[in-house]
Amino acid sequence: MKIGEFTIEQLSEGFFELFEDGTFQKIESSRLDNLKDDPNIGKFTSAIGIDPLLIQKSGKNILVDPGLGWGLDSGSQYKKASNVVTNLDIFDLSPRDIHYVILTHLHFDHAAGISRVSEDLKTEPTFPNAEYILHQDEWDYALSQINRDIKIPGAGYKLDEMYKLIAEERFTFVDQEIYEPVDGVFAIKTGGHTPGHMIVKLKDGDNSAYFMGDLVPTEYHLNHYSMRNIDIDPLQSKKSKTLLLKQALKEKAVMFFYHSLFKKSGKLSRDPQKKYILLKP
Ligand SMILES: [Zn+2]
Repeated sequence: MKIGEFTIEQLSEGFFELFEDGTFQKIESSRLDNLKDDPNIGKFTSAIGIDPLLIQKSGKNILVDPGLGWGLDSGSQYKKASNVVTNLDIFDLSPRDIHYVILTHLHFDHAAGISRVSEDLKTEPTFPNAEYILHQDEWDYALSQINRDIKIPGAGYKLDEMYKLIAEERFTFVDQEIYEPVDGVFAIKTGGHTPGHMIVKLKDGDNSAYFMGDLVPTEYHLNHYSMRNIDIDPLQSKKSKTLLLKQALKEKAVMFFYHSLFKKSGKLSRDPQKKYILLKP
């Protein structure tokens, strides 16, 4: 999709069932058509999509949230999994072509794809030439959680592979509220879901787009707040979400969602009942 000078693609890893213990399982495509009526989904699990974002502008390739990382490790059991590397290949890009990786936060369903384990069992960055961008508060918080037993599905941290990348100075830790690595690409701290959660806003003249991370994970969450058990600071989440959606509406921005099952993007508008709706961009 073209938005101003930006070319934006969603790199879908598919649809997953998220279990109460935090594990993921891929949903067979044959079950997808009947997802809404599937009696087994929604009872003990939730169904989510995983859609990392690829942004291209003036020769720079930017990835936002590189996904689950399935199939990246040599020796992985998920040989045929669609992952960030197989999906870049569709656009004729190799991991070496990525200049920036912006991480909204470090929950493993967003961040696990940053590294891989090579055949000689060495951790290496999946994107060898990329600068990884993360908010300092997110790293500090993740470190404080490593010895805690996190019971929230999907809210776990897997940091082991990250220490090496940090030691090799591949990370840029953001300590301000807004960081602009590339002209018109803004990583904006929202907190709420996690203390250092960031969203990404793209702006080119009158055109803008928002990738809301887990602040608004699906189109359903535009009008509903159901993150009570998942957000670290629900009040801060609500505050950031309300302000950002108001701004995005004013800008008639295109919204991109990481976890949607059905509508993964659309131009933000409101119906006569003042409910947020998505129009074809
Ligand atoms: Zn999360």
